[in-house]
Amino acid sequence: MKVLIVGSGGREHAIATAVAKSPKVDKIYCAPGNAGIGQVAECVKIGAMEFDKLVDFAKEKEIDLTVIGMDDPLVGGIVDKFEEAGLRVFGPRKNAAILEGSKAFSKDLMKKYNIPTAGYENFDSPEEAMKYLETSKYPIVLKADGLALGKGVLICNTKEEAMDGVKELMLDKKFGNAGNTIVIEEFMTGREVSVLSFVDGKTIKIMTSAQDHKRAKDGDQGLNTGGMGTFSPSPFYTEEVDEFCKKYVYQATVDAMAAEGREFKGVIFFGLMLTEDGPKVLEYNARFGDPEAQVVLPRMKNDIIDVFEACVDGTLDQIDLQFEDNAAVCVVLASDGYPVSYEKGFEIKGLENFENKEGYYVFHAGTKAEGDKIVTNGGRVLGVTAKGKDLKEARANAYEATKLIQFENKYMRNDIGKAIDEA
Ligand code: AMP
Repeated sequence: MKVLIVGSGGREHAIATAVAKSPKVDKIYCAPGNAGIGQVAECVKIGAMEFDKLVDFAKEKEIDLTVIGMDDPLVGGIVDKFEEAGLRVFGPRKNAAILEGSKAFSKDLMKKYNIPTAGYENFDSPEEAMKYLETSKYPIVLKADGLALGKGVLICNTKEEAMDGVKELMLDKKFGNAGNTIVIEEFMTGREVSVLSFVDGKTIKIMTSAQDHKRAKDGDQGLNTGGMGTFSPSPFYTEEVDEFCKKYVYQATVDAMAAEGREFKGVIFFGLMLTEDGPKVLEYNARFGDPEAQVVLPRMKNDIIDVFEACVDGTLDQIDLQFEDNAAVCVVLASDGYPVSYEKGFEIKGLENFENKEGYYVFHAGTKAEGDKIVTNGGRVLGVTAKGKDLKEARANAYEATKLIQFENKYMRNDIGKAIDEA
């Protein structure tokens, strides 16, 4: 088989690594890819939003399956384009990717189908939003409706902060049209858990759980980022939580989408908050989480191609999804200054230490090949993942492994997986 992967981050590197393990696959392409992906796939200089070029490429190379890693092309309708051209593609169509593309849509869906989530109202008028805030309880949460690189969520402690937030999102258009509509949501407290799943339109199969660390600094301080590290499984994702979500969240979401005529095929990421009143859905994503994919996929036992194909063909019920009975921790190595401003172009040293190192992975995000060197080329540079027999061992292994890599301005959080100690 020939497989094309669309995207360029650590997530796509984790997908490419899993795809490369499949005996069915002879050739992998990745558009646009990065320096690390280039070690398992042939990188193609086509952007993830260049749908026509990607379709032409897939036709020309006779690609058997295309896997879309990123949210923007999914929400923009890349899957529809591939299907129209008669190509096999893994991911939700545009009318289903709206589950991630519009928070107002996903909140209304949850309300209509009684899927537990925080109380909310949607607003497309800043005046109405501000009026509502006059009599609200604080803290309160403001969310841009559309995609905003994971930064469109504002937690406001006071009315003044919330009013400023409405101005930022709706009037100043900090995230462009993503803020034309906003969701104003009740503030919840509790532990967060990420759950990834495969979906074929009807059947849903849960992968293992994970936990992300969104803030830039230790102790969950600093700005929100794309994610500074993850661990899997989450010790807080108990059997009780699993049972509850199986009953009220997972299948309910898939059935709700089908009932709306928006059959979902691909990956649904459930961002859950474990509140005192039970688990509630914080958000949905329509693709693998990044860096969640970097701890979940290395633990997957199945041939990922079998699972992708079952999702495309609607035969996921025949797949016995299995994960290793161990743990994995990923520590993101970033450029100092991320997520605000940072320098690029520094040589990355020590990558050779990971060649054929069983149980260890270095997933590239912001890297670039320059001659025979690999240099930093983004805020999140690498994800260093290590497995262990349990979470503590995996965490120790991952932090030990981070010492093997050097580059100027290397920055990481030192408390990824600290929550494990409280379990
Ligand atoms: P989201 O993109 O909707 O998952 O929001 C990003 C982050 O904001 C979440 O991971 C939570 O940490 C936080 N957040 C979102 N919604 C709420 C809420 N209703 N209450 C408390 N925190 C929230």
